[in-house]
Amino acid sequence: MTEPGCLFCRIVAGELPATKVHEDDLVLAIRDINPVAPTHILLLPKSHVASVADLTSADAEVLGALFAAAAALARSEDIEERGYRVVTNVGRDAGQSVDHLHFHLLGGRPMSWPPG
Ligand code: AMP
Ligand code: ZN
Repeated sequence: MTEPGCLFCRIVAGELPATKVHEDDLVLAIRDINPVAPTHILLLPKSHVASVADLTSADAEVLGALFAAAAALARSEDIEERGYRVVTNVGRDAGQSVDHLHFHLLGGRPMSWPPG
């Protein structure tokens, strides 16, 4: 499913450019345009889902594919051993700015906890 006007749906459709680092039937992974860590990759389902808030058990397969891609990319980016973070923001308080589900894969520097 595609949501008209959605930025990430347009990237999935090839209407807007992005630096792709992984693609399979269900998932696209791209470099974040404004990286906040040496590795900053976005993993998105090709089919539009607004956020975690809209997920159901019917999305189990795509969620498995998203996390499997994150783990594989962490390996190929050479951040597996030192560690990394996989984050998704939901809604205003969390700072979600694109309403198409995406997981940030962040690594290559130490990160603080709790997050800001
Ligand atoms: P969030 O604020 O959690 O919704 O994350 C959205 C992310 O998308 C931000 O980290 C942005 O830097 C990133 N972003 C916005 N536009 C693009 C784009 N055209 N290509 C790649 N990343 C983008
Ligand atoms: Zn979308």
